[in-house]
Amino acid sequence: KEKTLAMIKPDGLLGNYTERIKLVILEYEFSILKETTTQLDQDRASSFYTEHSSKSFFPSLIKYMTSGPVLVMVLEKENAIADWRTLIGPTDSSRAKVTHPNSIRAMCGVDSEKNCVHGSDSLQSAQREISFFFEEISSD
Ligand code: ATP
Repeated sequence: KEKTLAMIKPDGLLGNYTERIKLVILEYEFSILKETTTQLDQDRASSFYTEHSSKSFFPSLIKYMTSGPVLVMVLEKENAIADWRTLIGPTDSSRAKVTHPNSIRAMCGVDSEKNCVHGSDSLQSAQREISFFFEEISSD
């Protein structure tokens, strides 16, 4: 089975969406293998989003991602990476509310920055992100 990294971002945690998001996770039969709550500092947030470091929105993204704790989870099921990306919906939550009203970002996000959840976008990023938070990569 495949593993992915799911994150509830600071707005999701502060807005008390954790339980509703977890109900969706269980409804779609992901197993939650690991989870932890952590507060990212500037360095950790910058490292996590290093691929966006040259973007104009990067400083704002880092401020957002360090504005409170995040909940990270390793989710497992067949096709976990693509299935979780589908469930969370498009990056811009304001668009998601129109085009993907049943998505998680439509439920709890606000705009293209404050979109309440994250999901790995490839096998490679899933492995990187799982090790980023949990410091091990299991090969099965
Ligand atoms: P994530 O990687 O968090 O799952 P994503 O893959 O949908 O999100 P990316 O393009 O990788 O989106 O952007 C990473 C994050 O940067 C987004 O989730 C969002 O919080 C923020 N972001 C993306 N685009 C913008 C933008 N145009 N303006 C402000 N913030 C943005």
